[in-house]
Amino acid sequence: MSHIMPTYGRLPVSFTKGEGVYLWDTEGQQYLDALSGIAVCNIGHTHPRVVDAICQQAGTLMHTSNLYGIEQQEALADRLAEKSGMEHIFFSNSGAEANEAAIKLARKYGHSKGIKTPTIIVMESSFHGRTMATLTATGNRKAQVGFEPLVSGFVRVPYNDIEAIQNVAKNNKDIVAILVEPVQGEGGVRVPTMGYLESLREICDNNEWLLMVDEVQSGIGRTGKWFAHQHCGIKPDVMTLAKGLGNGMPIGACLVAGPAVGVLVAGNHGSTFGGGPLACAAANAVLDVIKEGELCKQAAELGLYILDQFKARLADNTHVKDIRGKGLMIGIELDQDAPHLVRAALEEHKLLINVTAGNVIRLLPPMIMTHAQADQMIDGVCALIETL
Ligand SMILES: *Cc1c(COP(=O)(O)O)cnc(C)c1O
Repeated sequence: MSHIMPTYGRLPVSFTKGEGVYLWDTEGQQYLDALSGIAVCNIGHTHPRVVDAICQQAGTLMHTSNLYGIEQQEALADRLAEKSGMEHIFFSNSGAEANEAAIKLARKYGHSKGIKTPTIIVMESSFHGRTMATLTATGNRKAQVGFEPLVSGFVRVPYNDIEAIQNVAKNNKDIVAILVEPVQGEGGVRVPTMGYLESLREICDNNEWLLMVDEVQSGIGRTGKWFAHQHCGIKPDVMTLAKGLGNGMPIGACLVAGPAVGVLVAGNHGSTFGGGPLACAAANAVLDVIKEGELCKQAAELGLYILDQFKARLADNTHVKDIRGKGLMIGIELDQDAPHLVRAALEEHKLLINVTAGNVIRLLPPMIMTHAQADQMIDGVCALIETL
């Protein structure tokens, strides 16, 4: 009946209105959005500052193309550079495209060093997008099946395993970069052990590889810092962003520093829509709201509170194997696959959650969530787990 290509298994609900942490469906019923889209609406739905910026910009100038200077893009690049210490930024429309830019950059970097088949180290259970190259980089066989031939030039190692990377370094002279999520999202909210990213940085420095961090999900304040890698004080050579950057306006970014600067030049890469005035106006407003509201700090504090609450309330539950997270990326690993909990949460608790990697309840609440709203979310999730 529907003319929509069935690439998503959709829940039987449509939302018509959103405000802050809440959504309303076609029947007028209210839901608590503990997912923020999927880590997109980090400052809540229809934030007035973002709405104003978009309306203003839409009525002034929506598009000119990248053949001309774009003031909003320049301003956004300045803001992101200041917060990250990165130097140059390419703007895209999505996370996958931001990663495509990073992959192309790594290959060109390799060729500039005389490496004819540049190869990128990627991780098991990673997620980098759905385009051919990012799908190949993604560490999930299920997402790849049926789309072979995949793209060449990737080597996979287990996440959080430094020895595996050292072995590749010894045996493969074609490596040019490591692509890694500082916290894996889709893969099950996996937080690496302390020192992991620092070790990756060191290995990259020793081998003249680029350290490329995919912060499409973990970036823009979600983990309690502007960017998740900042928790360990390292600086990547390449960082990709998207989801939370526009709070719902589609925009992605590939940021570069050090040896990654100057690799891509005129004619090497582009995007018709990327970094347009409208998307950049929204993103500029998002960054202002997070900065002025000190929302990174709030995300860190609220994240600790939520983790503590879950740990206290689920301590004796035999179905809970692990409770983990960083800021407002929170995962509860169960002893069984439980995809049905998503629908139960929706219908019985009017709560939007996600289950990823089969058995991990994933929560990505907005950074503006209050403690009372967090309690409502925690009550719902605990009640759901008690039904197992
Ligand atoms: C969602 C996601 C992507 C893909 O972003 P799209 O905007 O859907 O293309 C890439 N990397 C990570 C870590 C993500 O979470």
